[in-house]
Amino acid sequence: MTRQALPFLENLNTPILHCLYSAVASLSQTRQAHAYIMKTGLLADTHLSTRLISRYANHHSFVEADLVLRSISDPSISSFSTLIYALNKSNLFTQSLNVFSRMLSHGVLLDTHVLPNVVKACGKLSALKFGREIHCIVCKYGFDSDSVVQASLVHLYLKSDRLRDARNVFERLPEGDVVTYGALLSAYARKGCVNEVKEIFSGMQNYGLEPNVVSWNGMITGFNQSGNYVEAVVMFQEMHSKGFQPDHITISSVLSAVGDIERFNIGIQVLCYVIKLGLLHCKFVISALIDMFGKCACAGDLMKAFEETNEELMDVGARNALLTALSRNGLLDVAMEVFERFRVRGRELNVVSWTSMIAGCSQNGKDIEALELFREMQSAGVKPNSVTIPCLLPACGNIAALVHGKAAHGFALRTGIIADVHVGSALVDMYAKCGRIHLSRLCFDRIPNKNSVCWNAIMGGYAMHGKANEAIDIFHLMQQKGHKPDFISFSCVLSACSQGGLTEQGWRFFNSMYEDYGIEAKMEHYSCMVNLLGRSGKLEEAYTMIKQMPFEPHACVWGALLSSCRLHNNIRLGKIAARNLFELEPNNPGNYILLSNIYASKAMWDEVDAVRDVMRSRGMKKNPGCSWIEIKNQVHMLLAGDKSNPQMTEIIENLHKLSLEMKKAGYLPNTNLVLQDVDEQDKEQILCGHSEKLAVALGLLNTPPGSPLQIIKNLRICGDCHAVIKFISGFEGREIYVRDTNRFHHFKDGVCSCGDFW
Ligand code: ZN
Ligand code: ZN
Repeated sequence: MTRQALPFLENLNTPILHCLYSAVASLSQTRQAHAYIMKTGLLADTHLSTRLISRYANHHSFVEADLVLRSISDPSISSFSTLIYALNKSNLFTQSLNVFSRMLSHGVLLDTHVLPNVVKACGKLSALKFGREIHCIVCKYGFDSDSVVQASLVHLYLKSDRLRDARNVFERLPEGDVVTYGALLSAYARKGCVNEVKEIFSGMQNYGLEPNVVSWNGMITGFNQSGNYVEAVVMFQEMHSKGFQPDHITISSVLSAVGDIERFNIGIQVLCYVIKLGLLHCKFVISALIDMFGKCACAGDLMKAFEETNEELMDVGARNALLTALSRNGLLDVAMEVFERFRVRGRELNVVSWTSMIAGCSQNGKDIEALELFREMQSAGVKPNSVTIPCLLPACGNIAALVHGKAAHGFALRTGIIADVHVGSALVDMYAKCGRIHLSRLCFDRIPNKNSVCWNAIMGGYAMHGKANEAIDIFHLMQQKGHKPDFISFSCVLSACSQGGLTEQGWRFFNSMYEDYGIEAKMEHYSCMVNLLGRSGKLEEAYTMIKQMPFEPHACVWGALLSSCRLHNNIRLGKIAARNLFELEPNNPGNYILLSNIYASKAMWDEVDAVRDVMRSRGMKKNPGCSWIEIKNQVHMLLAGDKSNPQMTEIIENLHKLSLEMKKAGYLPNTNLVLQDVDEQDKEQILCGHSEKLAVALGLLNTPPGSPLQIIKNLRICGDCHAVIKFISGFEGREIYVRDTNRFHHFKDGVCSCGDFW
């Protein structure tokens, strides 16, 4: 209470005014006091008015507080700073800065209390420009020797990511404090500036300031965020050796860093420490431990940690960490079991849990399971998001589940996540794999902000469909639109050239990859080139290329040569390729089959028998041919020679009828593709059993005449099936899409889109 006010108050209604000095005065009491002050002309008293502002602000009645401020004819700095402080406290930073601007225009002299508050408001609003103006005022009026004002500026610059400005102000700080040091250390650590952190940190200690847990956490978490995992762990060790006790934040950060550098032994030390500190009850620590075990690929320890953890203590984050860690370590089946256990016990699972299971399934060939999980997820009332859809779509593509893929597309449209670039790219890929390349292109054209994943997806789609020229057009368009092709773009365009038999173009792309783009050819590019040369019959050139490769060829390169040798029945090079493959992949039956097929094509039955003997002695079985077909929203799987399908009798009858029709039309079954020295009659029987033919027949039986059929085959389509399906497409008037491991065949009116070149 000011001295001048006292004589007045003695003669006035003090109980009413008294409320202005009481912390518990109600809003209505404040209003009464306000009315009384106005009536008695006391509003001119700056001190009483400022009290009134403070009372109103206490009740968040900022409009009334501001009214009072505006009615003061000669407001003091404390009238303004009272309101600014209160507005800041209520997070009303814009209003706070407005009041400050008014204060400046009133010509009120500043002080060291109001400045840190307005600088803080600038920081909260990221109003760096205004902040810099205040910084000028600070310098102009000589407040730059005040530690609190300067520290507030350091925080402002750190918040605005202006590390150099922050450091400049900091260097001139008359007196450092732990909080400002901590903020600076954490900011530099987040930027990964290891040397600066060390410098500032030793400066802090020389200054006689002890770091606190917050400073240590700032550095450890910061290094972890910027990917300086080793530094994070080193900091943790230093913290420990200096006798500081970490908290759950420290432990979570350091465990995450330990996981990233896969130093399991350090992880175990941290675990022992966690137990000693009694932090094993903290859910953040449990999540971090599971994550660390997962990253260190210690599946056994991971399961042990899980079994020993009280399930009640696991929150949904820990559950998700466990599920992800299990499937990332190749334990998808265990992950599915654990997931099921969580569901049965009614533990909370969220969109992340479901999405990670769907992703695990579609990445591990469990496509039908992925589709099933997606359905269950929705019936469990969990809403898929823009991450779920790109995880699900590859499963649809893998087994050409077009109906499911379209449903996911519809979902993306309805929920507005269609504009997400990952969703868009996944749709492009899915439609291409389901044989609908034109829908692929439509989706591609509608992606608003394309990145290289989108461009590569459509290029890969065209390559798969043998549309070499379209793929090349996209390759050029991509650059016109300012996107640089990457090594995947070159794999796509080279594979397109090889599908289209464009040898010269292929060579040009291959050479320009390094010359014009500085991209070194990788294994997959060599494999594309060997494929390209080999398919077009330039087998010797392909072999020369392999011999001149700058690194040891992988199986994919020799495999490309071997399949080309099969296509052109070249025994000499076929034997060389096979010999190398037997060394690299001793247990892959496919290579043996290819070699014996080459022998069989030349009727070299003794050699065929020899290869078969090796296979038998090593206990190898031919990969069973397998095809998938989606009929009425359900995906059916057919195996070669499979008798389990309930419609098998009808299927065989139908195929038999069709083969008679074929013979009438002058087609002969191509029997030299059968890897057995049996008589012609039997060979024909065996050919009947190929899974893609069974799938076509099943489709013919269960879909309306004229509707298209869509089949996926796990091996390459054989020449006989190709001829039969070509015939069926014309005879039955059906469009038939067959995707084998190599590419797409679109059969229509008795011809195939591959032009019999595959
Ligand atoms: Zn076949
Ligand atoms: Zn074809």
